[in-house]
Amino acid sequence: MHSPDRSRGVSLRQVSKQFGSTRVIDPLDLEIEEGAFVVLLGPSGCGKSTLLRMIAGLESPSSGRIHIHGIDVTDLPPRRRSTAMVFQSYALYAHLTVADNIAFPLKMQRWPWYYEIPLLSRLLPGRRALQAGNRARAMEIAQTVGLEALLDRKPRALSGGQRQRVALARAMIGDPAVFLMDEPLSNLDTQLRAATRSEITRLHQRLGRTFIYVTHDQVEAMTMGTRVIVMNGGCIQQDADPQSLFDRPANRFVAGFIGNPPMNLIETVVEPGGLRASEGPLLTGSQALVNRHGLQPGDAVTLGIRPEQVSVSASGQAMQVDLVERLGTEQIVTLRAGQMEILMRDSMARQYRPGDTASIRLDFEQAHLFARDTGNRLEEVAHARYGT
Ligand code: ADP
Ligand code: MG
Repeated sequence: MHSPDRSRGVSLRQVSKQFGSTRVIDPLDLEIEEGAFVVLLGPSGCGKSTLLRMIAGLESPSSGRIHIHGIDVTDLPPRRRSTAMVFQSYALYAHLTVADNIAFPLKMQRWPWYYEIPLLSRLLPGRRALQAGNRARAMEIAQTVGLEALLDRKPRALSGGQRQRVALARAMIGDPAVFLMDEPLSNLDTQLRAATRSEITRLHQRLGRTFIYVTHDQVEAMTMGTRVIVMNGGCIQQDADPQSLFDRPANRFVAGFIGNPPMNLIETVVEPGGLRASEGPLLTGSQALVNRHGLQPGDAVTLGIRPEQVSVSASGQAMQVDLVERLGTEQIVTLRAGQMEILMRDSMARQYRPGDTASIRLDFEQAHLFARDTGNRLEEVAHARYGT
């Protein structure tokens, strides 16, 4: 049998989607290498599911072409794309057992229509053999996800985590080149979610197939993805490995979306002594940052500084403690100076009380700057001059 070339992964060229007059996905290009674990991350409504459904063939693009391992699948139905989809809702058949749910895609692929005719089908010798083969394969897959004891149950007699395993097993049974997962963990409680997260990562390592995984949860994205594509408003905001998203966010949106608690984003204007927060203080120690970026007095920039880069220091800036959230191993302190509000992440060693004055230092070595108008990251002058 001809086996498809899996060497070229998934490729989208100028793919866009419009529902009526509403553009949901702007034309975008995407190359996903074979075997990657790519996460599509973004807030609700940004177009993640639509993009995934176009790759699956459940939605057709308004423009552009989609290739999977070198084959143009844009006009092919889902079952001919070598993809399998796992949904948040599991989408199991309530009247079928676990075994039959798992085997269902095989049945769809290989079951001729006349096997479904009552009586007649019983007289056909091939049906039995096929059924036995499918059952054996379903057993084998069930074992790999720990479902072997539950094969005869119906979905309603399973927990959420078990249902999700059935959905995973069903995706695995056809040995697809590409696994498409749309928020598969969102219906699970926190503990089970963490455990299933690791299982999916291990599954990816074992199968070596391409995984495209949709989530709005940055922890899932950062822990599972080897590559994370951040989306907003139907556009790709940044496409990078998790650490780079964190260390060098491409714009204000990514800066604010990645990290928990979120990065402090402070509107500032450059003055002769450094950055001044809007309706707030001149930020002591910020002049070197201004120089590194070649900024001029009057320039309006957004300063991005993570709560971990805010600390108490004798030589700092006076700020007022507004709110203290103790988390057991650390605390998140909201500080205020004029209209400027900053989150600080600190160990439990110090005691803060609302109303206290604290002397606060911002680590400008680790700060980020974004243009106020475009929101894009500003590079240091040396970077800008020589390009990166
Ligand atoms: P996400 O998965 O990121 O939450 P979706 O891809 O589901 O986002 O939706 C993106 C946008 O497209 C939303 O504004 C949604 O309302 C709209 N949308 C999705 N499907 C349809 C549809 N069939 N008809 C009209 N609008 C749709
Ligand atoms: Mg969605």
